Amino acid sequence: MKNFDPKYNEIPKTEIHAHLEGAIRTATIIDIAREHGLDLPSYEVEELNPHVKVYDQWENLDAVLGAFGIAQRSIASPQALKRIAWEFFEDSARQNVRLLEVRFSPDWAFSGHHLDWDAALDGILSAKAKAESEFGMAIGLIAITSRSMGSQSCEKTVDWAIRHRDVICGFDLADSEARHPISEFARPVLRAKDAGLGITIHTGEDTPAQTVRDTILAVEPHRIGHGINIIEDMDVVEMVIERGITLEVNPWSNYLTHSVPTIESHPLKKLFDLGVRVTINSDDPEVLETNLNNEYRIAHEVLGMSFEEIKKSNSFAVEASFLPEAEKQKVRGVFLQD
Ligand SMILES: [Zn+2]
Repeated sequence: MKNFDPKYNEIPKTEIHAHLEGAIRTATIIDIAREHGLDLPSYEVEELNPHVKVYDQWENLDAVLGAFGIAQRSIASPQALKRIAWEFFEDSARQNVRLLEVRFSPDWAFSGHHLDWDAALDGILSAKAKAESEFGMAIGLIAITSRSMGSQSCEKTVDWAIRHRDVICGFDLADSEARHPISEFARPVLRAKDAGLGITIHTGEDTPAQTVRDTILAVEPHRIGHGINIIEDMDVVEMVIERGITLEVNPWSNYLTHSVPTIESHPLKKLFDLGVRVTINSDDPEVLETNLNNEYRIAHEVLGMSFEEIKKSNSFAVEASFLPEAEKQKVRGVFLQD
């Protein structure tokens, strides 16, 4: 659930793992559908919510795929994308997020309406410039390849991200790791890394610790999306600590996807105590009906992280951010430990 408890809201925050496609307000989905003549199951927020949000641990993927299908169709024009990005930045600023990295999969997100990738990027960039000046936020963009779209899509996305290296700061692989292991994508991922892009890979979410080991050995990413299942294998935990790899953890998302059986059993605090550089993030704040304040509430009230420990995890995020040093420098003072 969305949380605006001042106790959490006032903490200056970092968000380094959030998908733009999962951050579209329901009212905006409706407005865009009306404007572009798109079919929706309902044009009322309350009635549409069950089709675009996941409230409980899901039994199968269908509900989620339906929600993301509607999100994809909502990315109907560069102008719509500008609005979506702006509103996500606004929702983040409202929770005192000061360093934000947002990621999207161009080959998936822009294909619903065959948008020109560069025009779509311009829509995001104009929202970013406005949010940076109005909210004093530092914002970075990460390009994703959805694994199920294959290695050709990955090559194409890497080419595009490298071409926009001045504004795209990182590269990520997402979705269906069990069916599409890192070995299928190692070559383009290493190409992105060689070009200077920060590398983060979704791994060890609903897949075993071994997949994280395979990923580290194949591409040695700077960061890992989720990675919570390393807790099953202390050798992999050691590997992550020794190499200084930062985990982008998303507690509520992990619960909803059954990656942990109960929210109380989430290993966030255990990993922190072991010395892993964990960060706290929201993944898909609208689809999963959460926000960063809610993730902080879970970390503190359910998992027992102190506010000092949460602040420490924010400093891990600042250090591991893919933003250029000069951009980080603008907000670094906000996160200094007192
Ligand atoms: Zn994710």
